[in-house]
Amino acid sequence: MFVLDNKNVVITGATKGIGFGIASVFATAGANVAIAARSQPDIDTAVGKLDTLGPGRVIGLAVDVTDAESCQALADGTVAAFGGIDVLCANAGIFPEAPLHTMTPADLATVLDVNVKGTVYSVQACLDALTRSGAGRVIITSSITGPVTGFPGWSHYGASKAAQLGFMRTAAIELAPRQITVNAVLPGNILTEGLQDMGEEYLAGMARAIPAGTLGTPADIGHLAAFLATDEARYITGQSIVVDGGQILPESLDALNG
Ligand code: NAP
Repeated sequence: MFVLDNKNVVITGATKGIGFGIASVFATAGANVAIAARSQPDIDTAVGKLDTLGPGRVIGLAVDVTDAESCQALADGTVAAFGGIDVLCANAGIFPEAPLHTMTPADLATVLDVNVKGTVYSVQACLDALTRSGAGRVIITSSITGPVTGFPGWSHYGASKAAQLGFMRTAAIELAPRQITVNAVLPGNILTEGLQDMGEEYLAGMARAIPAGTLGTPADIGHLAAFLATDEARYITGQSIVVDGGQILPESLDALNG
């Protein structure tokens, strides 16, 4: 297990799913953890669960990442509680289905607002605190969908997840002189509340497409995020790391059945 007991960590979209998994790993490793999402009841429930995992403090802040001022309030609230921010996990994201022939401007705007603008606003809000850290870390939750693969009905989502990587590469260059690294985790299919809403047929189909045979867990993503947050990962920046049980590897269905 990674030792992160001197780290102050902010995680957006952390009341459920991958964000909660990341928060669980950091809390278990001893970090002070600030979780953020929109629903206050969900925040209270998640803080209650995370509080028991490690010696660090856990706080929750209601935030909408589509609002730059809300992101700034998250950063300021975390600094007020912990004294600083060492790690930002920009994880909040949505994945509603919208086939191209029915996608509305509002569908497109909503996905880009949360997944792209939300990522940029979160990083900007935490920038001064990450700089003061002297070993700042930004870990963005992207996806295989968009940067590597495609799936009918999710073209706007794929565009948003690829856009996060374009942002990451230039941010990594801009922030390197401040000793801040910026990396992205690209999950495959991870069994979260959000993915469960896609239905059993979708989940079974995905499991058949994964060489490892099963969907991943939120902790699988949390463990990579925790490594990227360590002092030992200081020289890794601007990178996209796939965590998918081998899902993007097969060249054909035969490759899976052979
Ligand atoms: P999830 O289970 O639906 O959880 C989403 C979290 O984000 C919740 O805490 C939600 O809380 C929060 N959130 C949504 N909109 C927000 C907003 N505007 N401001 C602040 N928080 C917001 O989703 P997930 O499956 O864990 O996905 C998390 C991230 O992983 C996303 O970026 C997604 O694209 C990425 N991802 C997931 C998978 C997968 O297989 N699950 C695969 C690849 C990538 P509130 O609704 O209360 O705000």
